[in-house]
Amino acid sequence: MVEGQIPVEEYKTGNTKHKWDLKKLKSAHKVLYKYKYKKSAVEKGFANRTLYVNLSSGEIKEKKVTEYMKKKFTGGRGFGLKLMWDSIKPTTRWDSPENDLIITTGPLCGVTQYAGSGKSLCLTVSPSTDIICDSNVGGFFGPYLKFAGFDAIEIQGKAKNDVVIFIDGEEGKITIETAPLEETNSHLINDQLTYLYASEDTDKSRQKISVVSAGTAAEHSYWGCMNFSFFDIRRRVPRMKQAGRGGLGTVLRDKKIKAIVAKVEKFDGVSNNPADPVKLAEVGIKLHREIRDLDKYQCNMRAVGTAHLVEIMDQYDLLPTENYRFGSFPKASKIFSPEFYKYFTKVIPDGCWHGCTMACAKTVDGFTVMTGPYKGEKVTVDGPEYETCGCGSNMSLWDPKWILEFNFYCDTYGLDTISTGTAIAFYMEMYEYGILNKERCDGLELCFGNGEVVLEFMHRIAKGDKGEFVSVAAKGIRRVKDWLIDKGWGDSQLIEDCGMESKGLEYSEYVTKESLAMQGGYGLTLKGPQHDEAWLIFMDMVNNQIPTFKDKAEALHYFPMWRTWFGLNGLCKLPWNDVEPANNAETDEPAKVPGHVQNYVEYQNAVTGWKVDKEELILQSERCYNWQRAMNVWLGRGRRKDDWIPYRSMGPVTEVEYTSRKDRYDKQLVEKLNLTEDEVEKMPVIKKIKILYYYRQDQYQKLADAVYFRRGWTHNGVPTPQKMKQLGFDDPKLLEILQKAIDKDQKAGLNVWGGKYKKGEKVPSTDPEYWQKW
Ligand code: SF4
Repeated sequence: MVEGQIPVEEYKTGNTKHKWDLKKLKSAHKVLYKYKYKKSAVEKGFANRTLYVNLSSGEIKEKKVTEYMKKKFTGGRGFGLKLMWDSIKPTTRWDSPENDLIITTGPLCGVTQYAGSGKSLCLTVSPSTDIICDSNVGGFFGPYLKFAGFDAIEIQGKAKNDVVIFIDGEEGKITIETAPLEETNSHLINDQLTYLYASEDTDKSRQKISVVSAGTAAEHSYWGCMNFSFFDIRRRVPRMKQAGRGGLGTVLRDKKIKAIVAKVEKFDGVSNNPADPVKLAEVGIKLHREIRDLDKYQCNMRAVGTAHLVEIMDQYDLLPTENYRFGSFPKASKIFSPEFYKYFTKVIPDGCWHGCTMACAKTVDGFTVMTGPYKGEKVTVDGPEYETCGCGSNMSLWDPKWILEFNFYCDTYGLDTISTGTAIAFYMEMYEYGILNKERCDGLELCFGNGEVVLEFMHRIAKGDKGEFVSVAAKGIRRVKDWLIDKGWGDSQLIEDCGMESKGLEYSEYVTKESLAMQGGYGLTLKGPQHDEAWLIFMDMVNNQIPTFKDKAEALHYFPMWRTWFGLNGLCKLPWNDVEPANNAETDEPAKVPGHVQNYVEYQNAVTGWKVDKEELILQSERCYNWQRAMNVWLGRGRRKDDWIPYRSMGPVTEVEYTSRKDRYDKQLVEKLNLTEDEVEKMPVIKKIKILYYYRQDQYQKLADAVYFRRGWTHNGVPTPQKMKQLGFDDPKLLEILQKAIDKDQKAGLNVWGGKYKKGEKVPSTDPEYWQKW
């Protein structure tokens, strides 16, 4: 046995050994509202109705999915946007009763023949950003929701006391029940409710339950995530995947939802009822074989999940270290994937939905908790994935055990690991500079590398600590920046430049200083800096495949549109390019993985019976992408200023960063800014930093110009009514909103970065001919 591996007999005991008094738990439930519905089968990927629940009024009803919705919004995230458009107001904020919390599926969600087909898409107005945040997540809930009869669940209103929403696909009924005795933290409540709602006392029955919950920290933080369970029949544990970004768990708990539970009567390989099951099987088998044969030579995801990225990122100077100051670190090898491989349980397939041969959802079983309320208990830790390891390096935690501890508590407390880790790394840097100190941090010594204090901070959030720092810090980097600046602590520009957030959302874990395209991939996005829209670092920085602004703009058009498509369909992106066909490098556009794009064309047609081609797939996404941007404009955001990014993501902020990569930066001053080697040699570092500072910001502005043009938006980042019409939208309310926004910008004479137009300068036009000239 490899060191750290858990013996089979231990991990089979699961988290808690089911010590629940189920009778007591159940007898405390009181059904507040009940709704019976007619069960019906899924047709060609669609349940053809969505479920609406209002927790304030108790209203529960079905909404029909129209052909118009399918044609214009495809499914998944697209349906979520349409439902939100019909329900919220431009003044809706995260805690407004009318804010929607939506979980959607997509026509391909629930398929078991093609790897990565069990994703749910979750949407809400985010506490971090005040705009719509979307987050995708694995686990069984999405497929079960659909098999129970609904393409989406939409929740408005707030309950008075904690409730469970139970979607009973066996009986055909929905209930809203009080749940006073259940735990709140996810590893416990998911276990309790899995046992409570299973029809029989068997693992097979428990496998037909999926629970969505968020822990106690989600109640006191803007980083709340939602945990989606999937009962692992081999481990006998409900494991969890997270809808992490944007505070979805915060909204869940604000609505006083303790959990949402879906139960299915049965499911099998044809529950999604595809139009052409033979074709579907054919295209699915092709991919299964590729994964089986090639994964071990390409990414090795089946063995170590996404943790293999740690060593690659470190090698290319992209692994965020000490709040993104550096991209590699001498101690990094301590958290390379072999270190986690020692802990992962190896003998069990790790798919987060049936049929996922990629099986990247790695797990550490029997981990002994080191701190907090569960100290000494043995638990199953889902992960760590790359992003969580990247949080470790960002906080300078180089012991895998602290990363596992951080991972476990983030999940069970309902905290997004990315936002939590990125924010703490920023607080640590501020601590190092003396802008924060022990007194200002409510007694916490937030030094880089201090794992115990990281966990102490999280425990305090979970307990609802009212300390000034803990309260503000739990709301994220943007609020802490404002707080520090208001207090007059530290240089405000340094604070703005170092805090890695954009639109109010914390960055995910990649260093982007040397990739302008990836800076756009983080900034020129809908919800904020998350790498699910575009990951262009290798194309841009390593392979130099997109050297011009036009090339970068094309990539920042194509890849966000392509990646959006997975969210419309209920798919995981990983099987698209984390394994590639053997001949991929010989194709015209290897970055797009054309062989797999063609798979997806055939896959969608086989399920829905549509006759789409690869261009139509992009159009499906473009419609929803532009619709979401238009909704951001409606909500008062979605402008160029909102796409601004902190300078730390563009270049070196401090002297220590510059000098650590001196040769690289000096060379750029010579090659890109036409300084002589002699001038550069004699120049003080601080001056060189300033020159780069203005140059790189200017480059980012030029990139934004090119990207907005390519997307058909104004200089200020607003989709034009003409663009929306081209995409087939003629909703007069939407067109009027956009026209008014453009008129307002023009009246204000707003130009790049909110500046005024110079005399004679072309004002962004709504005339389509103007845009064609670009
Ligand atoms: S590739 Fe990994 S994350 Fe994606 S569906 Fe499969 S197991 Fe889940």
